[in-house]
Amino acid sequence: MDFNDTPEEAAFRKEVRAWLDANATRKIDDKASFRARNDDPELLTKAKAWQDKKAKAGYARITWPKEYGGRGGSPILQVIYQQEEANYLVPLGFFDIGLGMCIPTMMAYAAPEHLKRYVKPALHGDEVWCQLFSEPAAGSDVAGIRTKAERDGDGWVINGQKVWTSGAHYSDYGIIITRTDPSVPKHQGLTMFFLSMKAPGVEVRPIKQMSGGANFNEVFFTNVRIPDSQRLGNVGEGWKAALTTLMNERLAVGMPSGGLDVDELMELARDTDLEDGPAIRNQQVRSKIADWYVQQQGLKLTRYRTLTALSKGQTPGPESSIIKIVAAPKMQDMGAFAMELMGPGGIMKEEVPHAAGFQAQWIGGAGFRIAGGTDEILRNIVAERVLGMPADVRVDKDVPFNKLKG
Ligand SMILES: Cc1cc2nc3c(=O)[nH]c(=O)nc-3n(C[C@H](O)[C@H](O)[C@H](O)COP(=O)(O)OP(=O)(O)OC[C@H]3O[C@@H](n4cnc5c(N)ncnc54)[C@H](O)[C@@H]3O)c2cc1C
Repeated sequence: MDFNDTPEEAAFRKEVRAWLDANATRKIDDKASFRARNDDPELLTKAKAWQDKKAKAGYARITWPKEYGGRGGSPILQVIYQQEEANYLVPLGFFDIGLGMCIPTMMAYAAPEHLKRYVKPALHGDEVWCQLFSEPAAGSDVAGIRTKAERDGDGWVINGQKVWTSGAHYSDYGIIITRTDPSVPKHQGLTMFFLSMKAPGVEVRPIKQMSGGANFNEVFFTNVRIPDSQRLGNVGEGWKAALTTLMNERLAVGMPSGGLDVDELMELARDTDLEDGPAIRNQQVRSKIADWYVQQQGLKLTRYRTLTALSKGQTPGPESSIIKIVAAPKMQDMGAFAMELMGPGGIMKEEVPHAAGFQAQWIGGAGFRIAGGTDEILRNIVAERVLGMPADVRVDKDVPFNKLKG
């Protein structure tokens, strides 16, 4: 494991810091300001402007080839940029799915004229993309989707429903996985396409969350017609295309965890008085904070391991799943503990200092434990691919999809 930047990495970090200093405001103590809710239309406008600025300066997607507006840089340089950007008050989060997952899938499968048309507007934040995979009966088991695409002359007609589609309500385009042949086993009858979210027959219904926001959606498709040229990959090879998308998701591991850190919890414990004095002096409080501190150090070191692999040009392995298995429950537990420490005031985010950030952490933690692989699915990955334990039972793997029960 190597903790230090190479000379090239250090020079890049310095360059990035100088650019960020000149173009953005450093975070001081207002850590919750841009994290809050990404369904605020004003925030999207600001995020689009920031994305455009980054793209013009060559920082929007460092690993992409120069012909697509990237720098042809290594993944570690992308991680360094993100680490530095996390120290500034800039609106993020609207383009991660599009640029991190959808456009890389397009690059692998779309025709050159489509890449010419769609990559640049996505990079500059003019067009937003979403990922239409999960359905009411297919989340962890994406290959179990039922939305169907049927041949119709030169094109296809799509009918069905997706759910939990982050950002569909402000997205312009999406990549969608569909079932094109129900008579073969589930992984074999899938085909991927891209489509306009404004196409006739696409209906987006935001889902109201307990946080008050509505960041993800149900999306219904009723006789949506698309040309065959919008197919990504061969007919029946949608699972392969979906894996391209999901592999790109894994490269997000070097990103900052998104949760508040233990220092902030310590600050709260210093500022909070219990019956027997400041909370920071209470043994039970100290013991909890110590546990999370240890977890935080473990996460940091595991991230360094991943970063070292990236720095050496290697691909991070399935062990990076460990990061989310630990980080997501930690985020939720620390939020709950902090709110309890604040007493009844902990639910009043407008009135009580610290409350907003910890509430966001507690509420957001539940989704973080599910999105991009649930706790259990990630444990399965670690068990099978890291520890070499026997594989999960998959009884439906070879059965034609239309013969499955339920
Ligand atoms: C915040 C958020 C954003 C999301 N954004 C998107 C998006 O943009 N696009 C998109 O397509 N999807 C998105 N999703 C959906 C997400 O990918 C799914 O919710 C996730 O894969 C889990 O699927 P599910 O909800 O259907 O739960 P299920 O798969 O039905 O799981 C239910 C429970 O069973 C457990 N389980 C399932 N299978 C196994 C197994 N083999 N072994 C052990 N336990 C198992 C799970 O761990 C879970 O506890 C998002 C979800 C969230 C929370």
